[in-house]
Amino acid sequence: MPFHLPDSTVIEDPDLLASYRRDESHVEGDLPRAVVRPRSPRALKELVARAEKDGLCLVPRGAGTGKAGGCVASGPSLIVDLCDWPGAITVDRAGLCLSAPASASLKGVKEAARGAGLFYPPDPNSWQLCGFGGSLATNAGGPNAGKYGMTRHWVLSVDALMADGEIHTFGIASVKANAGPALAQLFIGSEGIFGLITGATVRLIPAPTEYLTLLLPVPRWEDLLGLPACLAKAGLQPSAFEFFDPAVLAELRAHGPEEARRLPGEALALLEFDDAGCAGDAFLDRVVDALGPSASHLQAATDEGQRERLWAIRRITSSFLKERHPKKVSEDITVPRARIADFFTGLDRLKIPAVTYGHLGDGNLHVNLLAAGDTAPEALDHQLMDLFRLAVDLGGALSGEHGIGLAKRDAFLALSDPFQVEALRKLKRALDPSGIFNPGKVI
Ligand SMILES: Cc1cc2nc3c(=O)[nH]c(=O)nc-3n(C[C@H](O)[C@H](O)[C@H](O)COP(=O)(O)OP(=O)(O)OC[C@H]3O[C@@H](n4cnc5c(N)ncnc54)[C@H](O)[C@@H]3O)c2cc1C
Repeated sequence: MPFHLPDSTVIEDPDLLASYRRDESHVEGDLPRAVVRPRSPRALKELVARAEKDGLCLVPRGAGTGKAGGCVASGPSLIVDLCDWPGAITVDRAGLCLSAPASASLKGVKEAARGAGLFYPPDPNSWQLCGFGGSLATNAGGPNAGKYGMTRHWVLSVDALMADGEIHTFGIASVKANAGPALAQLFIGSEGIFGLITGATVRLIPAPTEYLTLLLPVPRWEDLLGLPACLAKAGLQPSAFEFFDPAVLAELRAHGPEEARRLPGEALALLEFDDAGCAGDAFLDRVVDALGPSASHLQAATDEGQRERLWAIRRITSSFLKERHPKKVSEDITVPRARIADFFTGLDRLKIPAVTYGHLGDGNLHVNLLAAGDTAPEALDHQLMDLFRLAVDLGGALSGEHGIGLAKRDAFLALSDPFQVEALRKLKRALDPSGIFNPGKVI
C-alpha cells in the first residue's frame, strides 16, 4: 500500500530508495520502506503515530555526508529527510546568536554569521556539503576545534521532535542559563537516537579579521609530532594545525591537483593563527621561536588566494584518497595532544598498514587503511579493534568527530564502560519508549 503523510513528499521508488542505503562511510544499510520529507509539525506528529502503529523506525537524514553509517536504515524504517523543513536563518546581532532550521546548510549558517561580521566556528571539512541538522546531531568539529571546540560548545538551544509527537525547545537563547542539567546538550552528538532535531540557536562571536597561514615542511616526519605541545607551552594557540604523513603527501604530490604537486617536505603541516595582530612580524617571530629548528623551512601564505588554495588541498584529501582507494576504511581516532608520538609508536608496533593525516593540533588523527578492500574481513576487524584499543588505552577515544553510527557500534560497546552504556540505554528508553528513533545506532 502506498505510504501517505500530510504536508510531506514521500519517495517510494525502489531505484531512488537504493541511494539512501549509503552515506560516506564504508557500511551499507537496509533498503528503507520510504523516504519522507515533512513540511509541518502536523506531518511530524502523524509520522510518529504511523511509526508506532506500523512498527517502523524513523531514521533522520541530513545531507548524507556522515562517515559512521548513522543515517541509513537498520530494520524496517522510514528515512526522514528534513530538507523541506520550513524556516529561515536569522542572526541576532545584539544577542550574538543565530537561529536556523535543521534544513539549513552549515555553509548557509556560517555565511549568514559572516555577513553580519560574526563567526560561527564549527568547521568540519565537509562544511560546504553537510546540513546544519546533521552537524548538530554529529557534534561536528574540524580543524579549528582545538581552539574553538566542537559544535557542542556553541549550542544554546535545540528544537526537537520527541516521542510524544510534539516539538519541544530545550535550552534558551542565552549563554547564561543554569536551571538544571542542560538537556539540549543531550541531542548534540546523539546521532538521532533521542529525537529529531528541527532547529537550533547557536552562539556567535566577532569574526577574526587577520590570519597567518603557514606551511611547515619537515625533513623527518617524527619532528612534527611534538610541535603542537611546543606551541601550547609557548602560549600560542593555532586555530588549525593540520598534517599529512609522508605516504599521504606522496600520493597528493604524485596524483593530486596542480597545487598539491609542489608541496614540500617529507611530511607537512598546515598551520593557521587568527589572533589579533597575527599578521605582523612580531607574531611570526614568536611562532618561529616556539617551533625551534623545525621551523627552518616555514613558508607563509602570501595572499588570500594562496591561503584558499592551501586549504582546498586539505579539504579534498579525504575524497581524493577515496577516489584512489574506493574501498579504503577511514577512521578518526583521537588521543590527548601529549600522547600523539606514543600513538604512532603503537601503530608501528601493531603493524597496522595505515596512512594518516588530519588534525595534529588536537590529536584527532584520520587513520586510513587503504588496502581494506583486499584484506580478509576478520583480519580487518582485528586491525580496527587494535587501532581503537590503542587510542583508548592512551586516554583517547575511537572517534574524534565522525561518531559511532552503525559502523563503530560493536567496537563502542566492547570498549566502553558498561555502566555508561547502560545509562545511555536507560536514557533512550525514557525518551523514546517504543524505540522509534534511529535504533541500532550507537548503543
Ligand atoms: C569529505 C568529508 C569530510 C568530512 N570532514 C569532517 C570533519 O572534519 N569533521 C566532522 O565532524 N565530520 C566530518 N565529516 C563527516 C560529516 O560530514 C559530518 O558528520 C556532518 O556533520 C554530517 O552532516 P549531514 O547533514 O551530512 O548528516 P547525515 O550524514 O545525513 O547524518 C549524520 C547523523 O546525524 C543524524 N541526523 C541528521 N540530521 C538529523 C536531525 N535533523 N535530527 C537528528 N539526527 C539527525 C543521522 O541520523 C545520522 O546519525 C566529513 C565527511 C566528508 C564526506
